[in-house]
Formats: sequence, C-alpha cells, structure tokens
Amino acid sequence: MARVYNFSAGPAVLPEEVLKEAAAEMLDYKGTGMSVMEMSHRSKAYQEIIDEAEADLRDLMNIPDNYKVLFLQGGASQQFAMIPMNLMKNGVADYIVTGQWAKKAYQEAQKYGKANAVASSADKTFSYIPDCSDLPISEDADYVYICENNTIYGTKYHTLPNTKGKILVSDVSSCFLSEPVDVTKYGMIYGGVQKNIGPAGVVIAIIREDLITEDVLPGTPTMLQYKIHADNGSMYNTPPCYGIYICGKVFKWLKKMGGLEAMKAHNEKKAKILYDYLDESKLFKGTVRKEDRSLMNVPFVTGSEELDAEFVKAAKAAGFENLKGHRTVGGMRASIYNAMPIEGVEKLVEFMKAFEASHT
Ligand SMILES: *Cc1c(COP(=O)(O)O)cnc(C)c1O
Repeated sequence: MARVYNFSAGPAVLPEEVLKEAAAEMLDYKGTGMSVMEMSHRSKAYQEIIDEAEADLRDLMNIPDNYKVLFLQGGASQQFAMIPMNLMKNGVADYIVTGQWAKKAYQEAQKYGKANAVASSADKTFSYIPDCSDLPISEDADYVYICENNTIYGTKYHTLPNTKGKILVSDVSSCFLSEPVDVTKYGMIYGGVQKNIGPAGVVIAIIREDLITEDVLPGTPTMLQYKIHADNGSMYNTPPCYGIYICGKVFKWLKKMGGLEAMKAHNEKKAKILYDYLDESKLFKGTVRKEDRSLMNVPFVTGSEELDAEFVKAAKAAGFENLKGHRTVGGMRASIYNAMPIEGVEKLVEFMKAFEASHT
C-alpha cells in the first residue's frame, strides 16, 4: 500500500498517525467493545470524546471563556444562512467579496436582510485582497463578513479589516488551525473541518456568548439556532459523532506537534519552497498578488491550458494527486494543509523543475 501526496483542496489530507490510530480503534474503542460509530452519543465514553475535543480546541486556539464552541452540521454553506438568521438583529450586514465562497455567503444573506458588498476583488479574478483599512461600513450593520482564506483563488487576509467597531464574522474553513489567531478580534469564527481538520460533515463555530440569543429572524428553524446548540452542548440532536472524534484526534496531533505557533512555522516553510520556485520558474507562475498569498492553497498556471492539463496528468502518474485547479478557474492548485508533509512539497517542486526542464 502506498499513500500518494494528496494536494486536494477538500476533503483533504489528514495526518497519517491519526488515521492509523482511528483504524486501531475501529472495532473496539478503549475497551467498550464497539466502534465510536456505533456508540450512543449520550454514553459516558462519547461525552468524554466531545468534551476533550472542545477542551483541546480551546487550548490550541486560546479561546476565551466568553466564547462558545459549537460542533454543527450542514457544511460551511449552511452557515451562509444561519449567520444572517441569528446575527442580523437590525437586518443589515456588510460583506467583503473576495471569492466564490464570500459571494455565496453574500448572496444568501440577501434573502434575510440588507446585505451590502462593501468591497470586492472581482475586478481581477479575486487575485488579491482589497484594501480594508477604511471601508464604507454601514452605521447599522450587525456584522462585517469575510472569507479569511480564499480556497479557490489562494488569497488570505494578512491584516483583518477595520470594521469600525462592528462585529467581525469570518469563514476560516481553509485556514482553520494553520496559525495562531486572536479570537477576541472576532464575533464569530467558523469553518467546515474537511479542509484542514477532519472528515466532511462537521462545522465548528466559535461564537461570542452575547451574540447567541433567542432574538433570531422569525421562522428560523430550531436546528438553525445557535442558542439551541449552545444550550445543549452541541447535542440537541445526534451530532456528527465520528467526525468530531477524528477532529479531536487531530487537535491532539496538533498539540503534540507544538501547537499553532509551530504549525505556522511549518506551514511557512512549506509554502516558501513552492512560492520561491514559482517566483523563479520560467514556465510556472503564481496567480496571486504576492502580499496576499495563502499558506494553504497555492494556485499556479503555465499560461497554456494544454500544458496545464499535461502537467496535471503527468503529476498524477508520478503520485501527486488533485493538482487540478478549481473547475471555475482552471490551471493548477496545490493545497498544502497542516497534514501535508514537507517532503510532499519538496518532491512536488522537484517534479515541477524536471517538467519545466523538459518543456522549455
Ligand atoms: C469549502 C469551503 C466552503 C464550503 O464548504 P461546504 O462544507 O462544502 O459547505 C465554504 N467556505 C470556504 C472558505 C471553503 O473552503
């Protein structure tokens, strides 16, 4: 059995150690005689799993006590509706549109209130992050919304926007736990875990307590109210039990690796290898403005669609999987999340160099 280097944008590579541990516990989780998949979510063993997962995440991210951690379902996309339903108390919110996910969130919010696009980078195919130091933030905005790392385009906010005192809500799906964050700067941080943490089916939302109220839009379904999930410890109904268990293992792995400072250093080192080569290559070019580059998703092109396709095919044959760019943008994209080992990036660059040598 050989594992490939998997550059998928999501669902994506997970730490091998975690997968092996899960495999070893598959038939008998710690003497319970059953798999975590088969276990009641009301059992003592499961309560320990979810409690430990939350405690480890709080520890990793240094989450203050006045923030709740919720394990939810429905993908990051369900939050596009849940956020306005729960947080649009005045019926107004400002959105910064830096890619498809931000745009989808913005469009969904329009169903529930007045959503304003206060900045956008659509003019240059979302290849940069707009200047957000002095935006026309609405007086009565309930929150300002960003997608912090744009998975498809490979951009990342390296400075958070000046929200002029309004609450910041951030989709961190593709940069979750890739580096330290100051949670106190946000009203809410959330992300689908299938990019950098665990299996698809779990969404983690970290929300400041005072924002979690019964004052939601009329008609908001019970299951879409943060308060219901907060009051019930993420177990109002059956949570995505197995997914949360794997997330918990990844949190432990991250702690063992030295936490988020160490992850940041590791991710910077990996990304530098690839970006340095892209900057010197005569064949491959990065597509993102340098100061806005993501540490997680690295899009690049040759300038020829045919050559791009040839590269993706050759790379696959050599054991580098999922390098094709998003279906809406083409080219290539290497997603180099936490669990991608440094050798994966080194070997990819070696392969790109050889490809360049034989095609120029
Ligand atoms: C993948 C992704 C989404 C959508 O996630 P789903 O779980 O498929 O709904 C939203 N935002 C970002 C930044 C993403 O990378």
